[in-house]
Amino acid sequence: MPALPEYKTRILLESNGVPMVPAVFLDHVPEILPKPVVYLKAQIPGATSRAGRGLVRRASSQNEISTGLTELLAEQNCLGVLAAEAADIRREYYAACLLNFGGSGSLPGGVLVFSPEGGTGIEKRTGSLVKIPFSLLNPPSADEIEEKLPGVPNSGSLAEFLNKMINTFIRYKLTVLETNPIAVVEDGSHIVIDCRAEFEKHGVSKKDAHLFELPGNTVSDTTPLEKAVESINTDDPAGTGFFRATRDSVPEGAVAVATNLCGGGGKMLWEMATGGRTDIFTLNESDTSGGLSAFKSYRILRVILSQPEADVLVLTGSGMAFQNQYHLASAVWKALRESPSPLPSLLRFGGTDQEKAIQLMDEVSQNLPVEVRVFRPEIFPNAMIEQISSILSENRVHQEFKAPEGELLFETATPPARFIYHPEKNPGGTEPACVGECPTGFLMWKDGIIATNPEAKCIGCLACETASLLRDNGVLTIELDLPEEVE
Ligand code: SF4
Repeated sequence: MPALPEYKTRILLESNGVPMVPAVFLDHVPEILPKPVVYLKAQIPGATSRAGRGLVRRASSQNEISTGLTELLAEQNCLGVLAAEAADIRREYYAACLLNFGGSGSLPGGVLVFSPEGGTGIEKRTGSLVKIPFSLLNPPSADEIEEKLPGVPNSGSLAEFLNKMINTFIRYKLTVLETNPIAVVEDGSHIVIDCRAEFEKHGVSKKDAHLFELPGNTVSDTTPLEKAVESINTDDPAGTGFFRATRDSVPEGAVAVATNLCGGGGKMLWEMATGGRTDIFTLNESDTSGGLSAFKSYRILRVILSQPEADVLVLTGSGMAFQNQYHLASAVWKALRESPSPLPSLLRFGGTDQEKAIQLMDEVSQNLPVEVRVFRPEIFPNAMIEQISSILSENRVHQEFKAPEGELLFETATPPARFIYHPEKNPGGTEPACVGECPTGFLMWKDGIIATNPEAKCIGCLACETASLLRDNGVLTIELDLPEEVE
């Protein structure tokens, strides 16, 4: 999702009374420079891990301020530099508000994630995190938040601070609002040292549009692969299909990870696991959830695999998805066997039919041209990341896939697909297994041929093709169109 740079996020927080470290935004080198000591922070939409990339610098003299400003302003996509006063920090906390799209065991809402240990490397301290789910319609009061912060010094003042942060998150309909660190200063009060926000552009109200206007957020800036996903959503609108390319280039030495994150839970886990790392570069944001078909999952996966810079694919959800994981695994298998540029993959399945999903990938992964490792929901993305370096291949794999020719049986409009029959694979003319696998009864065996039941509907689950390939030698295959931008 589009990200706001720190100087814009500060405006949102300040408008809700959240105290911030004093800072000034500069889009040129002024004649009168700020007084040292200051931290100079390049404002680049979507930029993460700025400290590790030299985009944050401590300047302790006028000369260092002038040089630092000149260099940072020359960085690609830099909108300006935030010059923030150095604070006398006694203690650091971490807090984030995240949108939770809900799942089989929870309603949609927000989650406040708090850690009494802020600063860099927060992803390594997941054990210290306190998670407080909250309603977007009836957010918790400061007193209610304080009850959830046992053992934190001056918790009343901190709870008021967090309450204002939640109000900011809700007021501007953000998807992520992160403050790290929140500093406890000499007088015991709390101030934000660094912050960032993400938002969904359709969620921005007209009166707030000026706050969210960024060069990188305009429609004309849409990348070809983002356009491809927009067209997939147009002809198959059911469920969430979200994809956004990260605007930064891959830092030298970092592993470029193509992600398929399923729902807010998957996104949250991924961000917690990678937020402070400079060796892992997230090539794209994504969200496939909300009851989308396996047909659509496949098509979006093909977009994700099309990213030429990608080294590896990571797929994960919350670990308790309502989305049928066997259908998702069928989509992953199809994408990896049909994509001209499949990626070594780390796949985490958790939720409905997870055992069938894991079993399917175990069965088929030996015949794929790339290595695939499958994880159970008990394994968190932190552990998956530790395996990235050992799964990378030296060169990107390329393969040619040609859909086998056969007889067009029928087409479905929503989700759009062509079902192809291969009679030579069924010389006995008996009912193939794919018919019985159809969960809706849409497929029928009638007069020695596969037919469709007008009373039932195809939900695009891919179960028939999967059964056909595994048990019927491929008597039925499915062709799914891809936008021209894909590979
Ligand atoms: S025909 Fe049946 S099994 Fe095949 S994709 Fe449609 S719903 Fe699934």
